[in-house]
Amino acid sequence: MPECQYCGKWFRTKRGLKQHITKAHTTEIPFSGRVLDPTTFDFLGAMERREERRKRRKKGPLW
Ligand SMILES: [Zn+2]
Repeated sequence: MPECQYCGKWFRTKRGLKQHITKAHTTEIPFSGRVLDPTTFDFLGAMERREERRKRRKKGPLW
């Protein structure tokens, strides 16, 4: 499944992911079009979501 590299959300289709990035992670700049907006990035949330999935897959700590 495609995963948003900016906030860790998962999408069923690549198109859904693309739409999400356009809607959630870009901002409209006059005369330049849409550009990525770093203030919308949620790397911490992405890390937490990744961790959650890891925990769900394997029970207990890995070490
Ligand atoms: Zn995202």
